[in-house]
Amino acid sequence: RRASALARAGTPCHTADGTRIEVVANLGSAAEAAPAIANGAEGCGLLRTEFLFLERDTAPSVAEQAAEYQAIADALEGRPLIVRLLDIGGDKPAPYLPIAGEENPALGLRGIRVGLAHPALLEEQLRAILAVQPTGQCKIMLPMVAQIEELRRVRALLDRLCAELGIATPVQLGIMVETPAAAVTADLLAREADFLSIGTNDLTQYTLAMDRANPAVASALDGLHPAVLRLIGETCRGGAAHGRWTGVCGGLASDPLAVPILLGLGVTELSTAPVMVPTIKALVSDVTLAACRDHAAAALACASAAEVRALARSFATKEM
Ligand code: PEP
Ligand code: MG
Repeated sequence: RRASALARAGTPCHTADGTRIEVVANLGSAAEAAPAIANGAEGCGLLRTEFLFLERDTAPSVAEQAAEYQAIADALEGRPLIVRLLDIGGDKPAPYLPIAGEENPALGLRGIRVGLAHPALLEEQLRAILAVQPTGQCKIMLPMVAQIEELRRVRALLDRLCAELGIATPVQLGIMVETPAAAVTADLLAREADFLSIGTNDLTQYTLAMDRANPAVASALDGLHPAVLRLIGETCRGGAAHGRWTGVCGGLASDPLAVPILLGLGVTELSTAPVMVPTIKALVSDVTLAACRDHAAAALACASAAEVRALARSFATKEM
C-alpha cells in the first residue's frame, strides 16, 4: 500500500466515493518541508513555530522569522502553509518572556494568551508571516482559543497591518479547536474564523481533565473517548453551518483507526506526521464517506474509548 501511495504522491486525495480530503503535514522546522512533500503531503496544516523561539536569549527578529517562513513556503512550492502563532507558556519557557510561576501551566498563560499579553511579539510574528511571498500562501492559525475576543483582537491587528503594508489579498485567519469551549461554540467562532483545525492532543487533555504530560494518566488519555468524538462532531457542524472547513492537526489525524471516524464526523483536512502521509492518503482513498458516516455514528454511541477502538479495529478488518 505504501509503495502505491508514494507513486500517487503528487495527486490530490479523495475517498473511494469521491469526497475531496486534503492530507497535509505537521512541520516543526524548515528541514522537514521537502521530505514531507516527497511523501505526498499537499501542504502544511500546522507549522509549529516554537522552534524559532525556544532555547535562545532573545526573541527572533522579524527578518529572521520571515526568512524561515519564506524558506518553508518555497520548499512547499506554492502549496498552502498554515502558520500557527507562537504556542508557548509556563511549560515551555523562554527567558525573554517572563511568565510568573504557575501552579497549573496548562490552564495559565499559554497559546494565543501569551501573544495577546505580549503584543509586540505578536505583531512581529504577524509582520514576518505577511512578508512571505506570494501573499496568501501562508494562512494564520491561533492556538488554544477559548474566547471569541481572542480571535477578534488578532483579526483587528491583522487588518491594521495589512492596511499599513498595502496588502489587498485576503489573508486567511483560522483557529485551533483545543478547548471544549471552542468546540461547543464552534458555530459562533466559525462566523468569524476562516477555518477550524482541531488540536486533538490538547482537546483530549482538556476534555478528560488529564494532563498530557503526566505519565500517571497517559494510558487513559485517548482521543477516541466518545466525549472527544462528540466535540469533534460538534465542531464540524459548527464550521459547516458557516461554510468553513474543519481539519484535524492533532495526533488522531495520524492514527489509522481514528481517521475513518474523523471523516464520518465531517473532517475534510488531515494534518499528519510527515512520515504518516502515504499511509493516511492510502487509507482515505480506500474508504467511502458513506461507510465512514455509519461507522462514526456507531462510535458516538459507544460508552468508552476502549469500545470505540474495538469497533474501529473491526471496521479496519472489514472495510480497509
Ligand atoms: C494539539 O494540541 O493537538 C496540537 C496539534 O498542538 P500541540 O500538540 O502542538 O499542542
Ligand atoms: Mg495543542
